[in-house]
Amino acid sequence: MITKESIENLKSHLDVVDVISQFIELKKTGANFKACCPFHGEDTPSFVVSPVKQIYHCFGCGAGGDSIKFVMEHEKLSYPEALEKLASMSNVSLEYDNNFKKIDSSIIVKVNEYYQKLLTHNEESKKYLKSRGISDFSIEKFEIGYASNSNDTINFLKSNFLNLADAKEFGIIDTGKNGLYSRFIERITFPIYTITGVVVGFGGRTITGHNAKYINSPQTKLFNKSKLLYGYHLAKEMIYKQKTVIVTEGYLDVVMLHQAGFSNTVATLGTALTTEHLPLLKRGEPKVIVAYDGDKAGLNAAYKASLLLSNSQFKGGVVIFTQGQDPADMVHGNKIDELNAMFANTIPFIDFVIDSIINKYNLENAQEKQSALQESNDYLKTLSPILQEEYSTLIARKLNINSQLIQVQHYEQQKSTNINLSSIDISELSIIKTVLDNPSYLELVKKELSADMFEIHSNEYNMMLNDPNDPSLMGLMLNEHLISYTKEELNNQLVIILMPYYKKKLQQLHYAEHLNYREKANLTRELKYKLIELKSKKLIVG
Ligand SMILES: [Zn+2]
Repeated sequence: MITKESIENLKSHLDVVDVISQFIELKKTGANFKACCPFHGEDTPSFVVSPVKQIYHCFGCGAGGDSIKFVMEHEKLSYPEALEKLASMSNVSLEYDNNFKKIDSSIIVKVNEYYQKLLTHNEESKKYLKSRGISDFSIEKFEIGYASNSNDTINFLKSNFLNLADAKEFGIIDTGKNGLYSRFIERITFPIYTITGVVVGFGGRTITGHNAKYINSPQTKLFNKSKLLYGYHLAKEMIYKQKTVIVTEGYLDVVMLHQAGFSNTVATLGTALTTEHLPLLKRGEPKVIVAYDGDKAGLNAAYKASLLLSNSQFKGGVVIFTQGQDPADMVHGNKIDELNAMFANTIPFIDFVIDSIINKYNLENAQEKQSALQESNDYLKTLSPILQEEYSTLIARKLNINSQLIQVQHYEQQKSTNINLSSIDISELSIIKTVLDNPSYLELVKKELSADMFEIHSNEYNMMLNDPNDPSLMGLMLNEHLISYTKEELNNQLVIILMPYYKKKLQQLHYAEHLNYREKANLTRELKYKLIELKSKKLIVG
């Protein structure tokens, strides 16, 4: 392993502008540098590099980080590989020590090994996996395991002198009414890896008919299920090579499709596809194939995914598995040719969205037809002018109406979302930016402001409180439309948000039926006092 000291030494030699300009051309604009983003296709530059903050951020796809992160992403390298590349680029030598212990995740690695060993002794699980057609090779490749009863896992941790607090941190165990318990009980386990190959959590399928067929590890510092994709670390090479990624809904679909040679398959972790998945999906610019079930939930998920992906300019389309089939069953039934044909004939995202909208309505009824037109029109407006033109004819044909009834938006109305910030956006986001720029304000702002006081950006505020290093916040730090307030300005802004908030609270008290007279009087007094305090601007960041 590379020593900490030599990593620090390397970092002190790196300049983010120097590093990135060895890969792409940067143009100076004001204090920052700009370029067309290398991580997603674009014609107008939304990729910003800040020499002052030593970070980069793309306002288009959300990619961002420091010099090391850039080399990792751009060159598809692991962290140590990126360090080695940077060291040789900047003529710095690295030192290594022989201590190969995996620092943080060693405990979850051991539990993963333990679950795998348990599987070899559990006939029921093996029988189930076999019945689904999963080969021994796949069991090994995906490190499928078995978590037995709660005591077994806890005894394993204790007898190996593993740190129980760490085990809790990783969501392996938790404390309940009757003491410690294991989160995975009598379940087949599927370890979930990050893109760099670190195991951070598990998915588990019950084999004893538990109500929850599948569960995941709880959200932890490392395990964010709306960001991770199951199987990505095993699929990434093929995704880059074939420029195609297949997104499914389940662990077994991934395992079985890999088994049949579709080793560019991944799955969401029991959640819908979200914007947080997009940076990972964008890597290598692949075409995305959304392969979902044909039941109501699957169709709805495919509709939402298509909406998201078409709005974010992803290429690709949808495959729907009908008649109760799923990809795993088809591989098991040896229908590989059929699968190939399906993946080759996807319904493009935009077509799928339009069809889903129109299918909701009964076009025989004039009023419903009007609604179908309205809704597809609204969707059309989110697309580029060329696509709007193209698809207005399709919609007209499907609704059997004159295409002039479909209003295509004109080009100048299409502006980047960054610029279209409302004054509320600016005021809320600027507070967050100010605190990110001046961490010493954090405690004071936190004391006065809770996330529910934000009208729009409570998510970002929560993120700032919990994970200020999240890359999506980097965009705020570099967004030139936002203001980094002085102390006084910050005070004024807080008053602007807090005044209407407490006034509204005060009004609501009138109608609060669950409070008695006395409680109401007390709260009223408190709120009035608060408002007086705010009026005199006797606040906060002193
Ligand atoms: Zn980008």
